[in-house]
Amino acid sequence: MDLSVVVPIYNEAQNLEALHQELHEALAPTGLEYEAVFVDDGSRDDSFKILKRLAAEEPRDVVVALRKNFGQTAAMSAGFDHAQGKVVVTMDGDLQNDPRDIPKLVGKLAEGYDIAAGWRFDRKDHFITRRLPSKLANGLISKITKVKLHDYGCTLKAFRADVIQNVRLYGELHRFIPAIASLMGVSIAEVKVNHRARTAGKSKYGLGRTPRVLLDLITVKFLLSYSTRPIQIFGLWGLLSFAAGFLLALYYTFLKFIFFEPLWGKPGLLLAVLLMFIGVQLISIGLLGEMQVRTYHETQDKPIYAVRQVINYTPPAEGD
Ligand code: UDP
Ligand code: MG
Repeated sequence: MDLSVVVPIYNEAQNLEALHQELHEALAPTGLEYEAVFVDDGSRDDSFKILKRLAAEEPRDVVVALRKNFGQTAAMSAGFDHAQGKVVVTMDGDLQNDPRDIPKLVGKLAEGYDIAAGWRFDRKDHFITRRLPSKLANGLISKITKVKLHDYGCTLKAFRADVIQNVRLYGELHRFIPAIASLMGVSIAEVKVNHRARTAGKSKYGLGRTPRVLLDLITVKFLLSYSTRPIQIFGLWGLLSFAAGFLLALYYTFLKFIFFEPLWGKPGLLLAVLLMFIGVQLISIGLLGEMQVRTYHETQDKPIYAVRQVINYTPPAEGD
């Protein structure tokens, strides 16, 4: 199987027929061996019925129905688990992404990139509620994650299967897949893609998404920078804080016992105690983090590195 197209679907009944048709019209002429994995994310309208009917006539349609609405990230994750293609493409099910862009993205991967990300350079969404916040978010995300993309929110992206199968998603992390994958060291290309206004059905998001994206960004930053060495980060700040507090306390000790100055009326003493206290706490958090890191990597057999290729290596036989 060359290609799997994963499409999360939540209450998109009016869009499915057209989506199905456009998708196959765009992919059939490419000669690729492909499948379309539609994940019904607990839709409350007729989406599942329609998907089932379409799939009855089209063996290349795979339908995964979730028991309830788990959210777009979870739906995409379910799609990845059922995708069998060497390349996995994700796209929205509301026709805002254009399936005719898929061959372009797949072509980028053929050039050797691990990820090809769509960029909706001419985005057809409301300016105040969608494009402006997204512009700010994109700037912030690219500063913090150091993965430079213009448009993280564009669902239309292509991944090499081995990359996507190694990414575990939680929360609303789907927009951060390239950033999370960059942990493994991946090459990312950006491709300008077509974007269309939503003509049927309703958008599932509004401004309320902003704080969630910010919180996810904190998580991603942490995963990217410190996840295998928490004591280095927490411990460093802990040491600094403790040292500052300790020096301050030392100063007051001298005042009291060498120069016999009374300590009352000196708020700095409180600061000294606070700094030492925070220092100890940060170091403890770092140590707890170190334990967590070990549990995290060892329970999942997750190495702290990612291998691209091995040459001339034969694994030792069992019992050696
Ligand atoms: N979606 C989903 N589960 C959800 C919310 C959305 O599967 O809980 C799907 C939705 O059906 C669509 C895609 O995710 O295919 C993007 O959603 P939407 O178009 O509402 O987002 P927007 O384009 O407005 O950012
Ligand atoms: Mg949309």
